[in-house]
Amino acid sequence: MALHSLLLQRRFPGLLLFLFLEELVSLRLRALVVLCVSLLASLAFSAPSPAAASPKLHAPKLIVFIAVDQMRADYLERFAAYEKGGLHYFHQEGAVFANANYHHIPTETGPGHSILLSGRNPAHTGIVANEWYDRGSRAMVYCVADPAAPLLASADGPNAGPGVSPRNFLGVGLGDQLQRAYPQARVYSISLKDRAAVLMGGRRPTAAFWFSTSSGDFTSSHYYFPALPNWVEDFDRTHAAASFAGKPWDLLLGAASPAYPHADHPFLHVMPDAVGPRLYSSVFASPFGDEILEKFAEHLIRKQKLGTGAEPDLLAISFSSNDAIGHGYGPDSPELADEQLRLDRTIGHLVEFVNQRLGVNNVLWALSADHGVQPLPEAERALRHNIAAERIPPAAMIAAVDDQLGRIFHQPANFHWLAGTADSMLYLDRANLAAHGISINAVGRALATRVHAPGIAHFYPASEVAHVPNPAGGFLRNSYVPGRSGDVYAVAREWTLLSAYPTGTSHGTIYPYDTHVPLVLAGDGILPMRITTPVHVTDLAPTLAALVGIPWRTDEAESQSRATLIRH
Ligand SMILES: [Zn+2]
Ligand SMILES: [Zn+2]
Repeated sequence: MALHSLLLQRRFPGLLLFLFLEELVSLRLRALVVLCVSLLASLAFSAPSPAAASPKLHAPKLIVFIAVDQMRADYLERFAAYEKGGLHYFHQEGAVFANANYHHIPTETGPGHSILLSGRNPAHTGIVANEWYDRGSRAMVYCVADPAAPLLASADGPNAGPGVSPRNFLGVGLGDQLQRAYPQARVYSISLKDRAAVLMGGRRPTAAFWFSTSSGDFTSSHYYFPALPNWVEDFDRTHAAASFAGKPWDLLLGAASPAYPHADHPFLHVMPDAVGPRLYSSVFASPFGDEILEKFAEHLIRKQKLGTGAEPDLLAISFSSNDAIGHGYGPDSPELADEQLRLDRTIGHLVEFVNQRLGVNNVLWALSADHGVQPLPEAERALRHNIAAERIPPAAMIAAVDDQLGRIFHQPANFHWLAGTADSMLYLDRANLAAHGISINAVGRALATRVHAPGIAHFYPASEVAHVPNPAGGFLRNSYVPGRSGDVYAVAREWTLLSAYPTGTSHGTIYPYDTHVPLVLAGDGILPMRITTPVHVTDLAPTLAALVGIPWRTDEAESQSRATLIRH
């Protein structure tokens, strides 16, 4: 039953329910023990060798990396005619890698952000999912949970919620490497989501800050420092989120604009009147959340004088509202279109602010995303006549697994096969199987060869990932971490949305709608170009390192610098 409720909590019909559930899940999970993975993390941490150092005469003063949560690669083209701000800047002025994909599973926020600035897949970063089942504590573990790093008190009082840090992250971030090469470099990572800010920041950034939907403030944790800096408290005192109380979210270009696809529902969105967590969650799930984050970025740059030191600084920003809106309404909705158009203006303010302040040739810009998103199956069928698109409750998949394994191994209907699930990963109830003399490998084999479940293309036992042919095999090998990952991967069929809810959509699969994301570099003398060579998102970090001229060790099979495609 616990398993089913976990599955239910992972999908959601609409924005508010999504936020409510996500908050519940996060609070609950973060209260749980994180075992000794933090010890493992510190042991496994090793710096790339300095052998590949290539001193650069002109390093940028500031590197700004922008992640847009859930932004698909096609958005960059789809809305281009109506954009004139930051997304327009990247599209028109940048070196656009038009064929950049992830190669891991599940394609979620935690794993995606752990890859973006580390250049390594979850098999190496250890961030195998947003949450995974911990066999020792028999509980789910949130990817950035750390009970030893409680949240910091905000200007308006203590924030609720257990601690957060990058202790589960086993990689090395671009910021870590920048600070090795340039000891005076400052590294900041900010987002509305804690896991996005923490995982882009690497192991020891100057600071990571994120938005609290409990307090409406930006906060951080004791991992970074003992108290919030004064300049953050100053920003929190502006009550930026509260200022949106009662404000309507209208279509930026007016409902008659051809920018917006036809919707089967009226566009009626008004922020709650009462100041409090419900308002903050609604702001998070509207384009206004991006606006607050952009204002905070400007405040940070101004107060910390980023880009004005003798050595390059790094600012990583992940805009989260796009994810909440995409989950609620899908990529074909006017809500998503308006989010992209407003985000274009919002990022435009940041580009203008930074480029005017520091000079465009002194700033290296990068844009990408942590994953894409699947269309609503109903929209996919109606708009593109794709009859493969379907919505299947995870409970139906689990029921088929229980039923068929029971028949194969002659066990009763209430036999407990699974201890937990984390998106596409199934964790077998090892203790129960052992008590009944059933081997894990036998169950894995049975799932792979004899069990047919709704929405599932194939079950792959973790013990066999080394032998699974590509393309699925590559995704599995890039993702599997013994001890953290599940015993079996349940790979969904393409166009199947495993969701317990009648509306909304999600991401997590190995298919292009989830893996194909924007990857654009701009500024710092980069000329506009479009590069169609297929690249991996893991190539971003080594490419940025090469452009800045700092050491970076790469494993050619996993990632490589693409700097020579931009600068000859
Ligand atoms: Zn995400
Ligand atoms: Zn998401």
